[in-house]
Amino acid sequence: MNLKHEVRKEFYDRYGSWPDLVVRSPGRVNLIGEHTDYNDGYVLPMAIDRAVWIAVRSREDRRVRVHSSQQSDPCDFALDDFPNSDSGWSEYLKGMAKFLQDAGHALVGWEGVMCSDIPISSGLSSSAAVEMAAGLVFSELSGFPFDGTAMARIGQRVENDWIGAKTGIMDQVICANGREGAALLLDCRDLSSESIALPPNTIVLVMNTKTRHDHRTSGYADRRASCETAAAFFGVSHLRDLSVEEFDVRSRTESLDARSLQCARHVVFENERVLAAAEAMRSAEAADLGRLMDASHTSLRDDFQVSTRELNLMVELSRAQPGCLGARMTGGGFGGCAIALVQTAKAEEIASTVSANYQSATQITPDVFTTRPSCGTSVV
Ligand code: ADP
Ligand code: MG
Repeated sequence: MNLKHEVRKEFYDRYGSWPDLVVRSPGRVNLIGEHTDYNDGYVLPMAIDRAVWIAVRSREDRRVRVHSSQQSDPCDFALDDFPNSDSGWSEYLKGMAKFLQDAGHALVGWEGVMCSDIPISSGLSSSAAVEMAAGLVFSELSGFPFDGTAMARIGQRVENDWIGAKTGIMDQVICANGREGAALLLDCRDLSSESIALPPNTIVLVMNTKTRHDHRTSGYADRRASCETAAAFFGVSHLRDLSVEEFDVRSRTESLDARSLQCARHVVFENERVLAAAEAMRSAEAADLGRLMDASHTSLRDDFQVSTRELNLMVELSRAQPGCLGARMTGGGFGGCAIALVQTAKAEEIASTVSANYQSATQITPDVFTTRPSCGTSVV
């Protein structure tokens, strides 16, 4: 779906003229490499063909005023004075303004409309899409270059220091730097990356469980703390620095609490799986990639313990279908979406069967759709 026409029309209906600028900023799924980003490890996400769109014109008075068709209240604040006052969606834009100004950028105000087809709070990173879209609007209208990686760092600060979500940097980087037709192997230590295409004749199925469990914030903080405990125990700055071999030897001979050990095992082996998955993609080995995704899910379910009944069900239902090569939960966990790597020719059939079977098992109507790797945040 392409919301360019819709966002332009909404702008016209509200302001009586066409916008000066339209930007698009995608959501993302992570093919493999979960809870590795804040351990300085590897991830392999791709930007998806669902996005936040903003149509705008600049203002003279240093105000930012945006109407989102997904929210009832508008975002409205002055660039010279905006306390971190509430928990509404405006905070994402205020946060971007705050840290861009702190970085020395003189910002121009603007007004406009926002549309999106990224489901909110489903683990497809609508928040990073909003941040990077706003970042591009500020850069275009204020006249400084949009550096995707620098903007991603600003977006991560918004999540960490303005919103209060202690997340890693993966979401913003893939949103800003995604490439059409490819996933991005990203080293979260130095943010170096490599674009790698999906294996031929395969496509990604997104399976939104339409569930969200309360402990997603506390559970995330607990897991991070366990990773830090394990890193300190093994004497490394981040679990990224612990090899599989060293983990195997030392975990047999030394005693670390059971939870930290399980979390460390997930991270150490998940980093290995990401590198193996990248290699499988480079050599077009779809079956290998699928098996690695399966193994990632098992580890997230049993060792890291961030999966849920509904995510496990989605994964099992999709794997039961001929043409499914592998499946796993994606995103932080505790609800949200699972993904499956499927043969393109079977994708629609798998989607409708999984959807029907999930519905009859849970009485919840899921959202199951195919998605293609799309380009990152851009002017359209
Ligand atoms: P996720 O990033 O997984 O979708 P988050 O809870 O991190 O979930 O971010 C969701 C928040 O991002 C929403 O509550 C809202 O504040 C903001 N947001 C996302 N999409 C939109 C939109 N189209 N319009 C306005 N705000 C949005
Ligand atoms: Mg988010």
